[in-house]
Amino acid sequence: MTSPSVCLSFDFDAISLWIGPMGAKSPSMISRGEFGAVAVPRLLKLLDQAGVPATFFVTGHTAETYPTQTRAIAEAGHEIGHHGYLHENPIELSPEAEEAVLLRGLAALDAVAGVRPVGYRSPAWDNSPSTMELLLKHGFRYESSLMGDDFTPYWCRTGDAIGPDGPYRFGPPVDLVEMPVSWLLDDFPHFEYIRLPNRISPGLSAASKVEEIWRDEFDFMVREIPNGVFTLTMHPQVIGRGHRLFMLERLIAHFKAAGAEFRTLSTAAEEFRQR
Ligand SMILES: [Zn+2]
Repeated sequence: MTSPSVCLSFDFDAISLWIGPMGAKSPSMISRGEFGAVAVPRLLKLLDQAGVPATFFVTGHTAETYPTQTRAIAEAGHEIGHHGYLHENPIELSPEAEEAVLLRGLAALDAVAGVRPVGYRSPAWDNSPSTMELLLKHGFRYESSLMGDDFTPYWCRTGDAIGPDGPYRFGPPVDLVEMPVSWLLDDFPHFEYIRLPNRISPGLSAASKVEEIWRDEFDFMVREIPNGVFTLTMHPQVIGRGHRLFMLERLIAHFKAAGAEFRTLSTAAEEFRQR
């Protein structure tokens, strides 16, 4: 049995999250995304000191707005994945528009950082019925937006038959690895306070509470799940606050003490393929 894997992933949404899906016009709300660029050097320093690799999903808009930070991520040896252009929710796009966003994001990451991602994470973790076909068409190797398992990667499917009359019909597996995620293992709902006309997200949890949840989820995986992959989803603008960075440092030490190997999502996905 191999050692447990830890995949630290960071969604570098920056301003795109606020002006895209949140529709922000206020400089104050937009500035919440600006903080993401402040936090990236802190995270790169923390990862460097810990000696661990990570995966950053970067929107095309973020890459073009913050080329220095985006290049610094790549130059530090971390993986860069695709995360839309302006953090568009694919479910709200036509297949043609979704493909255009996919291509625009690829072009931006190539122009800014010279990278061609093999991994995709949907903004808001909402895949459309077309997403898998588009990812296959454009040569992606893995995707990381679904929640059908917790610590075990699995094969994506196309052609699921969704209907209320009779059992759910699963489509055939395709050549795309799912690296599953969970809102539980995402810093955003735990920490981020949002107040909009149609939405209040309280957030602002104590880091000690989140640390307890994440540590126990990891310990369960180590005890119960052979070849488990522990994927944390974080956002520079969220995790980049002082007390939360202390939490992340303590968690990394805990994972190391348990013998975990830190892998990028693409490395962990390829290992799943080989098994
Ligand atoms: Zn995002």
